[in-house]
Amino acid sequence: MTTDQKTIVKILDKGFVKLIDFMGSDVRAANSARVSFGGTAKGEERDKILIKYLLEHSHYSPFEHCYFQFHIKCPIFVARQWMRHRWCSYNEISARYTEVKEEFYIPEKFRIQDKTNKQGSFESKDLDNAKLLAIYEKAIDDSYQAYKQLLDQGVAREMARMILPVGQYTEFYFSVNARSLLNFLSLRCDSHAQKEIKDYADAMAEIFKEKMPWTYEAFEQINKKFAPCAN
Ligand SMILES: Cc1cc2nc3c(=O)[nH]c(=O)nc-3n(C[C@H](O)[C@H](O)[C@H](O)COP(=O)(O)OP(=O)(O)OC[C@H]3O[C@@H](n4cnc5c(N)ncnc54)[C@H](O)[C@@H]3O)c2cc1C
Repeated sequence: MTTDQKTIVKILDKGFVKLIDFMGSDVRAANSARVSFGGTAKGEERDKILIKYLLEHSHYSPFEHCYFQFHIKCPIFVARQWMRHRWCSYNEISARYTEVKEEFYIPEKFRIQDKTNKQGSFESKDLDNAKLLAIYEKAIDDSYQAYKQLLDQGVAREMARMILPVGQYTEFYFSVNARSLLNFLSLRCDSHAQKEIKDYADAMAEIFKEKMPWTYEAFEQINKKFAPCAN
């Protein structure tokens, strides 16, 4: 995948990840570390070794000098998980100021609850997908019609929205430094993360890999183990 700035990667049925801006590079992170002993870039091979050393030893602060800004469109239940990540900045569309569009996440396949792993779910032939989809779509349609009726009766947008489900799409800007983004990726590209947020994280990992390939390679080599409390 090649992601020019402002390229959109489509996710789920109506969502996207769009890179708005990026500041920094692998060399920026390496130089930010070297400033502590008065040095500058030492060429690709030595910079790669330094970057791996920094990640292995939890010296994360040099990666804070590289910055990504994304525009995200995702269902509200994904945004809710996303916004648990606090070391970053958000601005989200307001359903008080704008009327909510009829845009809801329609999953391709429903998954069954894993009985042993509370976080787990998987596709199963035991589920009648077409029947479940009909139930799901009817509920969404009913709630959106009710939303419109409340608005038509003069109810304020901030109250009418209370009837809408968490599958409704939202949009926000997400600005994050490379250190915090690696923490996000280590948690949300993981198999324990819900599939829907993992789809977004996987796309952002590709963008990270393209913008900071040496750092991402080192991150993969250390098996994406990240200990954000270490320093
Ligand atoms: C698979 C999975 C399941 C989850 N399930 C739940 C759940 O059921 N319920 C739930 O509430 N959350 C849940 N979470 C959210 C999780 O607890 C974290 O809030 C979220 O992953 C953000 O991680 P973070 O705190 O490392 O990131 P950030 O908020 O970006 O913080 C980065 C780092 O900064 C430090 N930091 C940030 N804030 C503080 C603080 N106040 N005090 C001290 N240090 C701080 C920590 O070192 C932290 O790791 C889940 C997450 C995952 C990945």
